[in-house]
Amino acid sequence: MMAGYLLARAGVNVAVLEKHADFFRDFRGDTIHPSTLELMHELGLLEEFLKLPHQQLREIRGIFNGHTVPMADFSRLPTHCKFIAFMPQWDFLNFLAAQAKKFPTFALHMQHEVIDLLFENDRVVGVRAKTPEGERDIYADLVIGADGRNAITHTRADLELRDFGAPIDVLWMRLSKRPDDPPQSLGFFQHGKLLVLLDRGDYFQVGFVIPKGNLDQIKQRGLPALHQDILQLGPFLKDRITELDDWSKIKLLTVQINRLKKWCRDGLLCIGDNAHAMSPAGGVGINLALQDAVATANLLAAKLRERTVSVTELEEVQKRREFPVKLIQTMQVFIHRRINGRTSGTGDKLPFLPRLFLWFPFLRTIPARLIGIGPRPEHIHSPLMR
Ligand SMILES: Cc1cc2nc3c(=O)[nH]c(=O)nc-3n(C[C@H](O)[C@H](O)[C@H](O)COP(=O)(O)OP(=O)(O)OC[C@H]3O[C@@H](n4cnc5c(N)ncnc54)[C@H](O)[C@@H]3O)c2cc1C
Repeated sequence: MMAGYLLARAGVNVAVLEKHADFFRDFRGDTIHPSTLELMHELGLLEEFLKLPHQQLREIRGIFNGHTVPMADFSRLPTHCKFIAFMPQWDFLNFLAAQAKKFPTFALHMQHEVIDLLFENDRVVGVRAKTPEGERDIYADLVIGADGRNAITHTRADLELRDFGAPIDVLWMRLSKRPDDPPQSLGFFQHGKLLVLLDRGDYFQVGFVIPKGNLDQIKQRGLPALHQDILQLGPFLKDRITELDDWSKIKLLTVQINRLKKWCRDGLLCIGDNAHAMSPAGGVGINLALQDAVATANLLAAKLRERTVSVTELEEVQKRREFPVKLIQTMQVFIHRRINGRTSGTGDKLPFLPRLFLWFPFLRTIPARLIGIGPRPEHIHSPLMR
């Protein structure tokens, strides 16, 4: 959506295809990072955007074995907004879509599921989409595959995927929120286990990290045992844990960390989770996907308005974005060694690493920068056509 918005804004004819009828999915986190808010500022959209209901998180705290530790302090970031805005992703996407539709060069086609690529002499020249009216072939000078993990576009294009292995999956569920609940802290850590609570106004979106492939085992132990596992990390949820009274209320989200060796071929460019599926660790995948979109528009918009782009020009996007992606994925692999849903100790001592954040508060600026802005931040350089 962001790439579509920026390219349409630059005068390139764009058709965004989305397989669902709406954007109401709850499976992808709600974080709008300071870097994204900065992009909104650069686009002149920030004021309007912040009118949408959201919560502002100025500091990330983790609860480690019951000890509260401030981990990231956004107050010193060199951005207009020194906070993460928590907003359901569907509100963000609907906002961007509404802004994009102001450009006559933009079209959004819902319920258009890409099922194949169209080729001419080994060049990708479009896509075949399944729509309520039947199959439809759509031709384009460039196909941007932003179809997330398990993307059909990179599979059909035979692009090689390297998997770095994520030892976790996430159980995703809802629990109601009460006025006297502790303020948003995000993570409750305990000896390799992690419970995440995203504040969505009147309820918590709850993520509980489990070892990969362990759901059947967890089901065999039964719901009361799962309730106990969750309560061990978040005891204040005791009065409502029985809201989870059926397995249908608990969704399994599989976590992947992988990266395409080549992000493009003639006529096709892959960005976001399609080119590099991100783990939820650190909550930065949305930011990276958006930054890819901005880099794509910066590097290609002016050219696409005039002509088709070459593979060498498409490769520039990978050259620009691969370093930040590699760095963050390496950190995610490191985090998974410690937080993998398996019990790795006992006691209520505060572990050494988080203890450092208590001893040396200036260290909190490092995660703030990595999460809030990320390495090699992008700024809007693509043109605005009137
Ligand atoms: C459990 C979990 C929690 C996470 N939490 C966070 C978080 O809090 N913060 C964060 O920054 N990151 C988080 N991430 C990572 C983040 O979700 C991804 O990195 C990010 O969503 C990638 O964005 P994307 O646009 O590339 O892909 P997606 O968000 O997956 O979007 C792909 C879009 O393409 C559509 N689509 C797919 N296939 C087709 C098709 N064939 N035809 C047409 N449309 C199609 C989909 O419906 C979807 O709208 C989390 C990941 C997981 C697994």
